[in-house]
Amino acid sequence: MQEPAKLLLENKAWSEDMVAKDPGYFMSLAKEQNPQFLWIGCSDSRVPAETIINAQPGEIFVHRNIANQVISTDFNCLSVLQYAISVLKVKHVIVCGHYGCGGVKAALQPQKSDLFIANQWLVHIKDVYRLNQDELEFLAMEKKVDRLIELNIIEQVYRLAHTPIVQYAWKTDQKPTLHGWVYGLENGLINELITLDHYTRINPIYKYAD
Ligand SMILES: [Zn+2]
Repeated sequence: MQEPAKLLLENKAWSEDMVAKDPGYFMSLAKEQNPQFLWIGCSDSRVPAETIINAQPGEIFVHRNIANQVISTDFNCLSVLQYAISVLKVKHVIVCGHYGCGGVKAALQPQKSDLFIANQWLVHIKDVYRLNQDELEFLAMEKKVDRLIELNIIEQVYRLAHTPIVQYAWKTDQKPTLHGWVYGLENGLINELITLDHYTRINPIYKYAD
């Protein structure tokens, strides 16, 4: 499948298939969305959010970027987070990274200056490496990449907890749970790395006073 026209044909076939199974499918889906999950994943084409958890349209709200990062100055991700929590009232926020992540691998290498925008994005992963350098620096390269992938996911989950969006929701009845998951490209399976909820003690330096 190379040509965009093929994608449009696939779309038409899919739409017709769905309507054949349920003539009112799109009519009811068009009325509203009520997802219970926000998914923050990597843009990698091999980790399609809905496919790997067998989710249907309407089930998960999705944001993806290179190496599934939550950056405190990224209004794209933060807007998605705020809308998902404050308006859609999702119950769970999932950060799902994956082994073999090209973004994390690239962050472990010297960068080329021609990719300066992408490099700035990867700097945040280099920061995760620096924070965990004692654990990482003497590992063999393959293990180092795998562990940095896991630590990067865990760091993003804490970054979610450090946002006023999540902290406010934890003080209401909503109390969304935060999850850090890692997906294996080689077996198609997801493992849970970390779960944070409103009982979690976070570093006081990141706590909002009200
Ligand atoms: Zn990736």
